[in-house]
Amino acid sequence: MTPENRTGNGKLALTPELREAVRAIARTEHLLVAMDFDGTMAPIVGHADDARPLPRAATAFAGLAVLPRTTTALISGRALASLRKVASPPVDTLLIGSHGAEAWLGPGSAGLTLDGTQKALLTEVRSILADIVAEAPGTMLEDKPAGVVLHTRQAADDVAEDAVAAARSLLEDRKGVFLKDGKRVLETSVVNASKGEGVDFLRQVSGASAVLFAGDDTTDEDALARLKPGDVGVKVGLDFTQAQYRVEAPVHVAELLEVLLRERSLAVVMEDPQD
Ligand SMILES: [Mg+2]
Repeated sequence: MTPENRTGNGKLALTPELREAVRAIARTEHLLVAMDFDGTMAPIVGHADDARPLPRAATAFAGLAVLPRTTTALISGRALASLRKVASPPVDTLLIGSHGAEAWLGPGSAGLTLDGTQKALLTEVRSILADIVAEAPGTMLEDKPAGVVLHTRQAADDVAEDAVAAARSLLEDRKGVFLKDGKRVLETSVVNASKGEGVDFLRQVSGASAVLFAGDDTTDEDALARLKPGDVGVKVGLDFTQAQYRVEAPVHVAELLEVLLRERSLAVVMEDPQD
């Protein structure tokens, strides 16, 4: 990163390499724009219910959603209901929730159903985590359709670490329970899914010839790992990543989406004058 890539507030802007990759992917036959939500479309906030997409990002994303040969999708760790509430996605945007365990592919798409074993296991996991939370001030649980999340953001560092370690030791060898680490969260699920499967699934149902994906968290690495030559993977933030490209913050994701909208609009209009 060179100093020229810094904006007025000192944050890294889009590199020339990323701009070129966006220009190139905008010319693909069918484009899938799959975005993580929290920390990518929306800045991270203290209370999950308060998260909202940056207006510029939401506007550009909505513009992409109505273009021909272009599919938009959100891939989030949030439960679908929560994702819908905070993201207010464009009507035809496909949604993957709960790290791939839930999917919404349009009106009439089937919801998640757990079998009896999974339901019983979920009750058991919740009870184990509730015991831990009762002893760890500042930690809390969030229920999802296929799992329970242990949140430690409001807890002291040592309390948070102990709570996660306790949960891990009680659950990691439990058959049918799947754990994921996030930023100050431990996710449990009785469905084995990941954002990687989410990306594969979206690529398949949309018939995309190339995928642009951006995400900020460790669970997004599963999606980045499924990208292919010709796709564009973008890490948001400065943590370790396998992504080809990086931006520093959601404000740059907004800029990225604006560049993509501009380039994609030109590409589809030139080739499909009737649209
Ligand atoms: Mg995120």
